[in-house]
Amino acid sequence: MYILRCNLLPKTFHGLVLGETTASALEQYDRMVRQFIRKWLRLPHDTPTAYFHAKAADGGLEIPRLRYVIPVMKNRRISKLEGSLDPVMQYVVTSPSFLGIKARSAKVAKVAGQVLDTGRDVKKLLATQLYTSVDGRGLRQQRQTPRINNWVCNGSQLLCGGDYIAAVKVRGNLLPTQERSTRGRRTAPTMCDAMCNAQGTLAHISQSCTRTHLLRSARHNSVLDYIVTKAEAKGYNVVREPVIPTRVGRRKPDLVAEVDGVILIVDVTIVADHCNLDSPFEEKVTYYNTTDIVDWIIATYPGKVWEFGAVVFNWRGALNRRSSVLLRRLGVSAGDETLLSCRVLTFTSSMFKFFTQSTVRAGWRAVL
Ligand SMILES: [Zn+2]
Repeated sequence: MYILRCNLLPKTFHGLVLGETTASALEQYDRMVRQFIRKWLRLPHDTPTAYFHAKAADGGLEIPRLRYVIPVMKNRRISKLEGSLDPVMQYVVTSPSFLGIKARSAKVAKVAGQVLDTGRDVKKLLATQLYTSVDGRGLRQQRQTPRINNWVCNGSQLLCGGDYIAAVKVRGNLLPTQERSTRGRRTAPTMCDAMCNAQGTLAHISQSCTRTHLLRSARHNSVLDYIVTKAEAKGYNVVREPVIPTRVGRRKPDLVAEVDGVILIVDVTIVADHCNLDSPFEEKVTYYNTTDIVDWIIATYPGKVWEFGAVVFNWRGALNRRSSVLLRRLGVSAGDETLLSCRVLTFTSSMFKFFTQSTVRAGWRAVL
């Protein structure tokens, strides 16, 4: 994938920009590229086209879309020639053949009713196409912390081949769930076969299915363990899951850490992909910011100031931007954030695998 994106496709740019290419030929090249990627990553045939080409930061795989990119590059080159002060070039740009090339190139740059002038237009169009697809609409939150998507295209060895494919599939909602496998040919909603009274989607399997309850806890604890380890390595005083008695019951934030004289009360949560990640952050702050908990902090850490916060991921690996700032204060680096995002994705993939192999149903006691 890395060689295709950074070496093979850029090598074709020169010939395609300088030569005569039609829209249909470019479309055919794109189709060929997607065919190979589908084979390499074992992606389903109905993977949204925009998922291949949208920027990694927007949630895609960032493979150049020749049909969109080449006309933009060609038009830019034509504009530069027209702006040349060289008398020979000034004569060339007024010739009928040049004007013909210019007219044809301008026509090719018109896609889906809009003219693509710059790379930014291409990026925006691909993101819009991705977010309007059924599988891609849950990727809107990826832009909250764009750099956590670096693993998709930086060619690093953070994930082995199998895990990379699993992570790409979870992120794109491409695993063959009951709901996805019957899409377009069902007459009634396809319910979860664990009898949960919910549709058998990856969102359900990841977030609320009876069958994956224990793995859901394991995913949460895995993220929390990593943050605690990093904070302790920095020398911060960290208390994991302290029990705080309040008038409305016991409260147990995931961690309380003393960082540079400030007491941070933090909860870790992995949420659904349809909501804005700022809402769960605010909900956690409101949940813990009560008189009883503040009294407990004053009694336990006298003379200190305090702050409430949350580390909010969604099951597609997106991270809230305020959580990212909080993680940095806890000693978790930008590279660690990427690792945590990949951990969420690979855990979600394992949950799906377990779901398909298990026979546990709602009302039964789940046993791993
Ligand atoms: Zn279920």
